[in-house]
Amino acid sequence: MAHTRREFLRDAAMLAAGLGLGSGSVPRLARALEGLAARRPGLVWLQGQSCSGCSVSLLNGERPGPAELLTRYFSVWFHPTLSAATGDEALAAVDRAVNAGGYLLAVEGAMPLGMPRACTVGDEPIASLVSRAAARARAVLAVGTCASFGGIPAAAANPTGAAPVSEVLARAGVSVPHLNVPGCPAHPHWIVGTAVLVLHKNDITVDEEHRPTAFFGRPVHDQCPHFARYERQEFARTPGEDGCLFKLGCQGALTHADCPWRGWNGGTNWCVRGRAPCTGCARPGFARDPAYPFFRLNEGRTA
Ligand code: SF4
Ligand code: SF4
Repeated sequence: MAHTRREFLRDAAMLAAGLGLGSGSVPRLARALEGLAARRPGLVWLQGQSCSGCSVSLLNGERPGPAELLTRYFSVWFHPTLSAATGDEALAAVDRAVNAGGYLLAVEGAMPLGMPRACTVGDEPIASLVSRAAARARAVLAVGTCASFGGIPAAAANPTGAAPVSEVLARAGVSVPHLNVPGCPAHPHWIVGTAVLVLHKNDITVDEEHRPTAFFGRPVHDQCPHFARYERQEFARTPGEDGCLFKLGCQGALTHADCPWRGWNGGTNWCVRGRAPCTGCARPGFARDPAYPFFRLNEGRTA
């Protein structure tokens, strides 16, 4: 279906706002989106050890929703949840895509490298399929903290040897561009924004963890409305109390993400505004340590 200039400008404005760019960048982004819509590059999405939460997050976007944006700018060649194909038909769709090559590969979930048959697609261990598919891709997106860093499947004692996608790529010697889009789940804007930017002349800056700095460039803490209260040591001591949530276990200082100003569910709210500490869901170490502190209680209490 042909799209109007107005639609490209509207999507570009949304993307520019999501990337924290000024309105001056909108015409350039609109031209990039127009080019993308003309080509509609293929998207292949695979799931390893995941709860499918990142797929659900993607589909939960507001209007124009990420799902709508995805179909406008990408051609979804395979997605385990969205594709109608099942069984042999689904396996044939994956093979057709891999043979064609040149797609964007999104991988959700960790890779069970210590127990390969813990997760298979058909009869093939997921790590084998991911390395095969990555070798033919133009770029690989590790979507969510499980795919980016191991996440909850890699929590101690990690019986399946769950590992991030980067480890599969390193073992297979695959050298295509690779980006991590962490979060448990990943925010829909982070996924779509990264996908669009990586396909537009690879126009994206990443940090040492392969995260796009547009979304993960600063700690949550620095952008938090309670930052001044943290500095004045005005802490909430019990859940529901007013103040900075640091003493209740908030990990905003250790977590790089733009949740405070982007918000979730269409910008309605985010963890700290909802009075829950940031649990560091986008951190590389999220949930891996057996003593990982999701919450702290009674910190600094004398009675
Ligand atoms: S609530 Fe968390 S992110 Fe906000 S200032 Fe306190 S410690 Fe930092
Ligand atoms: S505020 Fe922290 S825990 Fe909440 S979504 Fe953002 S990174 Fe994850």
